[in-house]
Amino acid sequence: MEELNKLTAHELIEKIGKKEATSEEILFSLYQRINKIDSKVKAYVRLDNTKELTDLRTYEPANDLKGLPVSIKDNICTKGYNTECCSKILEGFKPPYDATVIQKLKQAGAIILAAKTNMDEFAFGSSTENSCYGPTHNPWDLDVVVGGSSGGSAAAVASDEAILTLGSDTGGSIRQPASFCGVVGLKPTYGRVSRYGLIAFASSLDQVGPITKDVRDSAILMNIISGYDSFDSTSVNVDVPDYTKSLGMDINGVKIGIPKEYFIAGMDKEVKTIVEEAINKLKRLGANYQSVSLPHTQYAIPVYYIVATAEASSNLARFDGVQYGFRATNSGTRELTNLIDMYKKTRGEGFGQEAKRRIILGTFALSHGYYDAYYLRALKVKTLIKQDFDKIFREFDCIVTPTSPTAAFKIGEKIKDPLKMYLSDIYTISANLAGIPAISIPCGFTKKVLPVGLQILAKPFNEELLFRVAYAYEQNTPWHLEKPKL
Ligand code: GLN
Repeated sequence: MEELNKLTAHELIEKIGKKEATSEEILFSLYQRINKIDSKVKAYVRLDNTKELTDLRTYEPANDLKGLPVSIKDNICTKGYNTECCSKILEGFKPPYDATVIQKLKQAGAIILAAKTNMDEFAFGSSTENSCYGPTHNPWDLDVVVGGSSGGSAAAVASDEAILTLGSDTGGSIRQPASFCGVVGLKPTYGRVSRYGLIAFASSLDQVGPITKDVRDSAILMNIISGYDSFDSTSVNVDVPDYTKSLGMDINGVKIGIPKEYFIAGMDKEVKTIVEEAINKLKRLGANYQSVSLPHTQYAIPVYYIVATAEASSNLARFDGVQYGFRATNSGTRELTNLIDMYKKTRGEGFGQEAKRRIILGTFALSHGYYDAYYLRALKVKTLIKQDFDKIFREFDCIVTPTSPTAAFKIGEKIKDPLKMYLSDIYTISANLAGIPAISIPCGFTKKVLPVGLQILAKPFNEELLFRVAYAYEQNTPWHLEKPKL
C-alpha cells in the first residue's frame, strides 16, 4: 500500500473523497511510521505509556478534515489526556477541558493524537533540548537540533510521523523549528487564534499556529483554528476569510521590504546567499523589493527577555504542588513540615534549569524598584518596535527576512551558553513584540543538507498576503518536496 503518511493533508482529503483511502488506513500508516522511527527522532513524548493513541470518539467523517490525525504540542490542553508542557511539575496532569483550538479541530472532523509532541519545558528554548524527556533529533541529521520550542511538531511533520500539527510561538517557536526542519510554520496575528487552553508562557506574546508540510495545509488549518473566542479576552473579533482563496493568486506588483538590520555580521554566509536567492526568485515572480530600515531591531532580544520572563514568572506561580501535577513528598532527609516547605521542594524539584533561570530573571524585573527601570521601559521600547513595522507597512505589503541566522546547530552546542541560544531568535522575536503575523517556508539547503527557512511578515490580520506570497514561492521551487533520508 502507498505510504499514506507521506502525503499532505489536502492530498489525503482528496483521496478520502474519492474513496481511495480511509481515515483508519491513514492512522495505521502513521503508527507504522512512528513505531519505525520515533525511537530515533523522538518527536513524540509518552508514546510508551499512551496505550490509546487517539480520541476516536470525536471523528466526524462528514466534516472538512474527514478523520485526519492532528498532532499537538504538549502545552495545548486536551481533555482527559496528559498535557505536561514537557515539565516534571505537570507530571500526570490531565486537563478537565479542551483548548478552544482542540474543540474546533474536533468539530472539523480531526482525530487528535493523545501522544503529544515534544517541546522545550514550558516553551522556554530554541532547540527542544530543555524538555524533561530529552531532546528531539532532527530528521535531516540526527546529531543536530530541531529548533524550538515546538521542535517535536516540526520534526514529526518533517519525518512523516504527522500529517498536521499545532505548535505555539512566543518568540519564534513555530517558525524557527519549521525552518530547521524544512517545513512550513505560521505564527498568526496576536488575537487571531484563541489562547484558551494554551498553557501560558508570556500571555501578551503567545499564539497557537500550524506547522505543516506545505502552504496549502497551513491555510486549511488556519481556516479551522482562527476566530473570535469569548473565553480569550485578547482574541479579536475580525472576520476569518477563507485562506485557501489566497493560494494561486499571482504576486505581480507586491511590494516587499528587506530590512537592512537583518543582514548583518553574525549571519551565516550560506544562509545569506540562499535567502538572497529566494528574494530574487520572488522578484522574478513579479514582486518588487527595496531595502528598508527597522531601526529598533537591536533592542528586540533584550526587550523580549524582560517582557517574556516577567510574564512567565507570573504565569508559573500557579504551579505549586497544590492544584496540578507533581507534588514533592516527605522523602529524603528534609522533613516537609509545612506548606512553604512543600512549595519550595515541589518547585525546586519540578522545574528544570531554564524554567528556574526565567522565573528568577522575571521576578527580578518585576520587583519593587526595578519594575520601572526594566519592565516598564521594555514595554515602551516594545511600542517603538511596533511603530517601526507600522511605518514600513504604510508603504510595503510585506517584509522578507531569513527565519534564523544559521541552519540547525549540533545538539549540545549552545545549551551551556544561554545568551548564545537566545540569539537564535533574533529574526523571529520582533513579530511577537509587534503582534504581527509571520510565516516560515523552506527556501533551500546548506552544503551539509540542512534546511534553511524564509520568513515573510505582514501587517496585523493580513495572513492572506502571507499565504499568497508563500504559495507563489513554494509552487515555483522544489524545496517543500524534499524528504530527509531516515
Ligand atoms: N526561543 C524563544 C525563547 O526561548 C522563544 C520561545 C517560544 O517562542 N516559545 O523564549
